[in-house]
Amino acid sequence: MRLVLLGAPGAGKGTQAKKLIEKYGIPQISTGDILRKAVTDGTPLGKEAKSYMDKGELVPDSVVIGLVKERLAKDDCNDGFILDGFPRNTSQAQTLDGVLAMMNTPITVALSVDVDKDDLMKRLTGRRTCKSCQQMYNIYSSPSGQDGICDKCGGTLFQRDDDKEETIKNRLDIYEKSTAPLIDYYKKKGILKSVMGVGNIDEIFKKVCELLEKK
Ligand code: AMP
Repeated sequence: MRLVLLGAPGAGKGTQAKKLIEKYGIPQISTGDILRKAVTDGTPLGKEAKSYMDKGELVPDSVVIGLVKERLAKDDCNDGFILDGFPRNTSQAQTLDGVLAMMNTPITVALSVDVDKDDLMKRLTGRRTCKSCQQMYNIYSSPSGQDGICDKCGGTLFQRDDDKEETIKNRLDIYEKSTAPLIDYYKKKGILKSVMGVGNIDEIFKKVCELLEKK
């Protein structure tokens, strides 16, 4: 399975991706995670990306596409992969199609996780991430047992810079303008599937698996 996960920031793509990795044994490629690591490591690429990310803007295609190409070339992608947060606009989607066509491994399914805008705002402002293992929590809907501490590894929880309110508004606007048109892009290719990303995480995952396994 070569899967593209679509959905607004906060729709729960990352959460579903983590569960898909466990079930299908294929890697998640999250451009957001790769970029955040570059920022933390202080690489030149990270320094360039940070200024865009802090404002909630998209990092230039030239940077992101290079990262994805490099990642897709690794052996663990041979049996499939889950793209999370990429592509983010039509030009990235077209470039991806070109790269995969050369390898004879086209995207097999695009899964859109749909959530209302009001819900998204609450999810994003409430989101906390573990500094050590990247496990995500939400202070409203799925808090950690102990305030500010990760249940899984005991690491410290923090609010991403781009989860602050003014940045979130910008991210959602950019999603509407640049990324939402990809729903139509994949629909036209006949490989789009959609799931409502509201409610219990395991129940959403069950629906996701049913959709992915349906011929
Ligand atoms: P995410 O964790 O996927 O919401 O990504 C966090 C931030 O990283 C975004 O707001 C963008 O600034 C940047 N980013 C992630 N993926 C991409 C992409 N495919 N194209 C451009 N920028 C991206």
